Order: sequence, then structure tokens, then C-alpha cells
Amino acid sequence: MLRKYLNDKVLKQYRKNQEQINYFYTSFKDIALEDIKNKILEIKESKEYSKVKINKTIALAKLASEKVLKMSYYDVQIMGGLTLIDGKIAQMKTGEGKTLMCSVAIAANYVLGQKTHVATANEYLAHRDQQTLSPLFDCLGISSAFNGSQMSPSAKKQAYACDVVYSTAQEMGFDYLRDNLLKTFEERVQPLDFSNVCIIIDEADFILIDEARTPLIISGLANSMSPDFYHQIRSIAQQLQKMSGAPEKSKVNLNEYIIPEGDFWIDEQRKEAHISEQGYITLEKIMLNQKIIQNDNNELYDSKNLWLLNEITNALKAEHLYLKDKQYVIDNNEIVIVDENTGRLSPGRSWSEGLHQAIEAKENININPLTATVGKVSIQNYCKNYAKLSGMTGTAMESAIEFEQIYNTAVVDIPTNKPMIRQDKPDLVFLNQEAKYNHMLEVIKEKHEKDQPVLIGTTSVYESEYISQLLKKINIQHHVLNARNHEYEAQIIAQAGLPGAVTVSTSMAGRGTDIILGGNIEKFEMIKFTQISKLQDMIARLKSGEINLEHSDAIISEEEFSTLLSQLQSISMIEIEKVIHHYETVVETKAHSLSEENKNLLISKINETMMRIQADIEKLEHDYRINKERVLQAGGLCVIGASRNESRRIDDQLRGRAGRQGDVGESIFFVSFDDYWLQSLKASPVFMLLQKNVDSSQSISSGMVSRSIEKAQRGIDGLFFEGRKSMYQYDSVLDESRRAFFKLRDEFAQDKLKTKKIVLTGILSRLENLKDSIYLETTYQNGKLLSEMMDAITSNVKTETEESKDIKRQHLIDILENLLSIDRVNCIKVMSILEIHQIFDAIKSQKIQDEISLLNFMKDALNQFFSSITDELWMWLNEQGFDLLDAEWIYYLELTEEIRKWIGFTQLSQKNPLYEYKKECFNIFESIINNFDINVFNKFMNIFNIERNH
Ligand code: ADP
Ligand code: MG
Repeated sequence: MLRKYLNDKVLKQYRKNQEQINYFYTSFKDIALEDIKNKILEIKESKEYSKVKINKTIALAKLASEKVLKMSYYDVQIMGGLTLIDGKIAQMKTGEGKTLMCSVAIAANYVLGQKTHVATANEYLAHRDQQTLSPLFDCLGISSAFNGSQMSPSAKKQAYACDVVYSTAQEMGFDYLRDNLLKTFEERVQPLDFSNVCIIIDEADFILIDEARTPLIISGLANSMSPDFYHQIRSIAQQLQKMSGAPEKSKVNLNEYIIPEGDFWIDEQRKEAHISEQGYITLEKIMLNQKIIQNDNNELYDSKNLWLLNEITNALKAEHLYLKDKQYVIDNNEIVIVDENTGRLSPGRSWSEGLHQAIEAKENININPLTATVGKVSIQNYCKNYAKLSGMTGTAMESAIEFEQIYNTAVVDIPTNKPMIRQDKPDLVFLNQEAKYNHMLEVIKEKHEKDQPVLIGTTSVYESEYISQLLKKINIQHHVLNARNHEYEAQIIAQAGLPGAVTVSTSMAGRGTDIILGGNIEKFEMIKFTQISKLQDMIARLKSGEINLEHSDAIISEEEFSTLLSQLQSISMIEIEKVIHHYETVVETKAHSLSEENKNLLISKINETMMRIQADIEKLEHDYRINKERVLQAGGLCVIGASRNESRRIDDQLRGRAGRQGDVGESIFFVSFDDYWLQSLKASPVFMLLQKNVDSSQSISSGMVSRSIEKAQRGIDGLFFEGRKSMYQYDSVLDESRRAFFKLRDEFAQDKLKTKKIVLTGILSRLENLKDSIYLETTYQNGKLLSEMMDAITSNVKTETEESKDIKRQHLIDILENLLSIDRVNCIKVMSILEIHQIFDAIKSQKIQDEISLLNFMKDALNQFFSSITDELWMWLNEQGFDLLDAEWIYYLELTEEIRKWIGFTQLSQKNPLYEYKKECFNIFESIINNFDINVFNKFMNIFNIERNH
């Protein structure tokens, strides 16, 4: 109730706007087409209130649309446009013209100085919509482009430079991730700054809800090992001895474990392999022997070698837990995973973290390189980049709460242009599926025979195929849509309104394409407008002898001329669209070389072709009118839902395909208690009652059953919502760090001396900070070391031996290592920079007396050293810093993914997993950022040493 009241209030306000728009529209009526552009520019640059600017622009766009697209904005389209301008979601039914409505908002955004990205459900639609509207945009002086996944980076960049870009949300999300993996701004395809870019999402529920369930992920090649390595690891794993069972608690002494003899045990349930204490010893021996690790105590336990253990456990898992033809099959020399839940093959998927490679080694087939996640973002968080988010769809109200909570945007329900007269019949409920499909076939047959087109929406590919088989048996011609070929789907769906057409389709297929009763001849109407006028234009040119002097030496040959003529003779109306460009160039560049006689011949041939195509189109139009009449008489499009979908919203979307623009139409859903997610209803008293009293071949129309189904659907929708919300919340934790990381990355891309600044300020300020805390307890150890060292130095002034020098050196290194928290190897390098003798000398001459003076001395020395490095070298080091940053980020993504996997268990200990996750991620990110300067410095020292040695 409250929702409706608020909705009415918004609509009332929009109607008021509309009055002003109409007023401007009348006053602009006489503006010539070619002047509209200038007028728009004038508005854009004026200092008027934005509301006036918007209303004036909409009036002009309406005028332009009438002239170039032969479509005038319906009032409801303007209302929808105003909703988008407000950054809200417009709910408008199918066939209300959302594609055109979008231009209202795009034009308004343009005069407000904002660019627009339009995201559609698939690339075919993005391309189609941009092409449809581009004449309108041209007329308004708004540049537009399509951005597709197959385009080159430079083409993408050009597209994004336009005022409006059409693409899919997915592709734009990937562009965003890819851009943020590049090292220079120049290479980026998207705008650097989104603060004046708006996004409009078509089929908003599909993109923001259905598709938003899984985040976008870019994988890159990880640090891969050679195939030989995996084979080597495998042979090592084979030398290990399997234990007879897992360690068990001793029954005699409960604090003691009984560990069977052997190197490893397998946990079948958790699918894990564990290495025993004895196993570590065996492994270390073998690895030292094979020189995989260096000779040192407990080397395998060293953190830098832990990954080797991971590879060994992978090899053990591959051997003992992953079986051919059970967990995977081998197809074409590739491992194909068998989905655990469905038993289907999942080509393209692979196990992560080296397990896949271990299995490939076991099977002795080609080993694919390891991949790692290098970029990841959810659609929800990608959308947050934009200054304004808005969207449109036929079904948004069902999910209004989700739009509000996650996208912070309201839904406005826009009334239909013409009253809706579709009949939504109550559900037909059957006790079992057999009765359901039998009855459904009868209904389809009856409708088909009276020429009524039928669209059957199914919930799965399997159901589509099943129904198709049933239809074949009774000889009903039909189309089945379940392929993911959007263009092909769109063509079939577009003709699904022909008399007696039967189309079987999964709910989502062909979305975004309008089913027009009597068939869709829009394309041919467009040919009439555009191509015919081009032909007329050619004739006029030929007659006036208008030539392009640039090409005055181009001559048309006899041969070329005769092919030209014969082509014209046989060309069909579809082909004309493709070849007309060629004719235009010929006429423009070579027509002057034609003899008078040939010229007249060409004119008459073009004329003939034009007449023929016009006649063809008229015939089509005539057929269309008759077809449409027949279909209307038969009751319009009949939508049959073969099963109820788990989501009410998707059912509504299917239903919405009938009854567009005030057409007649009907919709019926078929339900049986066997339908897979309704089986739980079988336990309900309603079912028991029906089963006793109803003939099983009969349908039941029961309010009680319908209500139960609706309740079950809402329950499932609610669960899905919770799932998406949780995914979003987890991604939002990453989002904060992602933004911080991208920002830091931007600084690297922008500033070629970023590393210099990080090293200089980072290291020197650490020294500075140390001074403040030097007397605190934490540095007590250092203080002691230092005083001991100074004692050692001063007492041995005279009798300095090589040995005592060495001790001093060790002391200094210890101090440095502690003070600067850099690793030992680098300490030694720092010492070499500092010229250790200088320090000794300084201590001897009392310049260094305590920690503070030592730090000061080091600071000066480092400063001096840094200033001796040229900017060229710094810039080169910058690249290294960049790589380091990226490596840290990938490491972070990996780590957080791991945490996400086990964090659910914290629920057991009554902790909030999301909170724990946030805490963990934050800590890791903070330590990465805090230690970044040290890491850059360490890296820098490495490089510096290499440089010196060369
Ligand atoms: P939706 O996306 O709302 O389902 P479309 O944008 O696909 O609808 O448009 C449906 C059909 O209506 C298209 O064939 C389109 O050309 C036509 N159409 C849209 N707006 C108008 C208008 N103002 N006047 C005439 N036809 C229109
Ligand atoms: Mg649409």
C-alpha cells in the first residue's frame, strides 16, 4: 500500500514535468532537423536550471526521434526516462519501448555533462540497440558506440571515448579489471574517472540479480613449474609409504596419539592427504638427495619451502583420491571434471592450486600451466563506480527490496502505454507430470489449429527437449530455443507471433526481443526508410552529374558496368542493405565516366530495382496486416508456462511476453506435484485431500494450491536473495581493499618516480620513528647489543683481528635487522652500502655514541647513497615496484579466497563469519600495505646488488 502511494506520488511529479516538456515541444516544432544539434549544444552550455535543461532536451529529442526514427516518445516513455535520470529502476512491461526510452535519459545526461554506459543482457542486444538509436544520437550531436568482447583495445578505447557506449555489464566489468592490470594510463580503454559517467542497465533484474550471483574473475598464468617438475614430485610421492590408518587417540592414555607406521594417511571424507612426522623426515632426505632443497637443518619446514609440501600432497591426492572415470574423464588428452552433483561433464573447469597439474602428471598427458586469480569484482561493486546507477526491466517490483538494500536505488512502476488486456489464467494443477504434459499438448494443439501463436516457456533445457519430442509425435511444427546464440534466438523469437507459430524456449532465451503479432517486419520497414532513399539519392546524383573531383580519373570499365547491371537485376531486399554501399561509391567516384546512354541505362535499372523492392515490402506489409488480424482474432499470443519456475519474477517475465501494447493475449501455467521443486508439497494435507478425491488425469484449479506454490516460490527467492546478499557482503570487504589497491596502482602508473618516494620516505621515516621508540622496552635488546658492540670496539681498538672484525660486523647486522625489520641478506647489502668501516670509524671517533647517533649516521649515509642514484635507474626500479605490487595483490586475493573457504567454520564457535572475515582480510591488507615500502626496499637491494656485480 505504502509502495503504491509513494509510486503514485512520483508519477504525479513526472506528469508535471511532462507538461513543461510538451510546452517546449510545441515551441520547438519549427526547428529544422540539422539545427537540433546546435540547439542541444546551446542548452548544454547555458546556465539554466538543470530541470529546465532536461525538459528542453527531452522535447528536442522527441522531435528528432519523430523525424529520424519515425517514432514519437510515448508519454510513458518520457516518464520512464525521467525515472532513469533520477537514478532509479523503471519497471516497464515488455514491448513498451524501453530501448527508445533510454535515449530520453542519455540525452539529458549529455546536456548535464555526463556520459552514459548502457549495459544490456547480451552483446547482440547491445549492438542492435546502439545501431537502432545511432541515427537519433547523430541528430542530437551525441556520439555513440558499441563495445564488444571481440574488439581490439584501441577500438574499445575509441568506443569508450564516446558520449554513450552500449555493451554488456560483464564485458565492462572485465574491461575494468583488465584496465587495472595495465601499467600505464594510456593503454586503458575505460575512462580514468567515472565521476561523470552514468550507467543504465537494461533487463536490470537479469543483470543485477540473476547474473550477479557469481563475481567476474580474471585469471592469469601463475608462476608455473616445468612439466618435469610435476613428474619429479610424483615419483617422490610414490616413494612414500601409506599408513594403515589415520592417527588415533590412545585408549590407554587419552592425551596420547597412536600413529601407525608410514609417511602419510588419506582422509577420504574430506578429500585430504596428510604427511606424518616420519613422512617429513623421509621427504627431506629424498629432496636433499635430489637437490630440490639445500643442505640445512629442518629445511623443509622453512616457510619458503612449504609450497613443496603442497605439491606433494597434491600428488598424493591425485594418486589416491581422484580417480579416472569417476572424478574426471580424459577427453582428447585433456582432463574433464565430472560434476559431483549432476554427474555431467564440465569442460573448461579445472582444479586449482596445482591439483589439476598433479593429475595431468599422473595420467601422463600434456600439463597445462597453472592459473591464478589476478582480478575479481562483483557486478554489484563494479556498478558502484558510477556517478549514477539506473535501470529498466519488465519485472523489478518483486525485487524492490533487493534493489533498495544492495544497489541503494528505488523502483518506479510505470503504467503501460495502452491498457493491458492479457488474460492471466489460474494455474492448472495436476497430480502427476504425465497428466500435465498430456493436457498441455491438447491445449497447444487446439491453439495451433486456430492459428493462435503459442510460446511455451520451460525451466530447463531438458524440459524443452522433452516437449519438443512430444510435439514431433503429433506432427506440430515448432522451433526450440535453448542454444546460447543470441542473434539466432532473436530472429526466431521475433517471428514467434506469426499465425499458428509454436515456439519452445527456456525462460531466459531470446530475452530483449519483442514478439510482434503477425510477425516482425520492422527490419523491412527500416529498409524502406533508409535503403530506398539511398537509391533515390543515387538517381538524383546520376541525373545532376554531381561528381567528386578527387576521383575524376577513375574510369568504369565495360566489364564492371555490366556486372553492376546484372547484379541490380537479381538483388533481393535483404542483400540490398549489404551491397548498397558499393554502388554508392561507384556512382560517386566513377559515374562521370559513363556515356550518356549508359548513364540512362543505369538510372532505369536502379529505378526498376527500387520499384521491385518497394513492391516486395508492400506485399510483406499486406501479409503482415492480414496475419496480424488473424492472430488477433485467434486471441493473440498464448504463453504457456510448462512448469512454475523457482522464482516468481522469472514466471512474470515469461508471462509478460503476451499482451504487449494493448494486444489481446493470454497466459497459463501448468503445474504438477511431480515438478522437482514442488515435490515437498506432496506431504501437504492439500495434496492428500486432492489425491483421494480427484481423478488423476484431471486438472485442479485450487486457490489453496496456487497459494502454496506462491509461498514456496517466495521462500526460494528469499534464499537466493540471502545468497546474493552474502556474496555481495563478502565482496564488499574486498572492495575496500580493491579500491585502495587500485588507487596505489594508479599512483604508480602516474608517477614514474613513485618507488623513489616510497623508498626514501618509507625507509627514512622508519629510522625517524625508531628514534622515538628507541628507549622503549621493545628495543631493549638492540640497546644491549649496541652497547656490547661498542664495548667490543673500543676495548679492541689496538689489537683488532680479523675475527673481532667479524664479530663486530655480526653485531651491526643484528642491530640493523632488528631496527629496520629487513631480512638478513639485505642487511648485509645495506652494510655494504654504508661502508662498514665508516661506521667503525665513526664509533671510534665518538661520532656514534648511542642508538640515536647510530640512526642519524645511517640516515645520512643512506640519504647520500640514495641521492647518488640517477632518475633513470629509479624509473627502471619503478617497474619492479609495480610488479611487486601486483604480486602482493594476487597473493592477497589467494589468501582471502582461502579464508573465505574456512571462515564458515567459525560459525561453529558462535562467531560471526563475516565479521571474522573482515577482520582477517583487513589485517592482511594492512600488513601488506604497511610492509610494502620494506618489500620494495628489499627488492631494490636485490637489484642493486645485481647491478653492482655486473
Ligand atoms: P521493450 O524493451 O520494452 O520490451 P522494445 O524497446 O524492444 O521494448 O520495443 C518494442 C517495440 O516497440 C519495438 O519494435 C520498437 O520499435 C517499438 N516502439 C518503441 N517505442 C515506440 C514508439 N514511441 N512508437 C512506435 N513504436 C515504438
Ligand atoms: Mg528491451
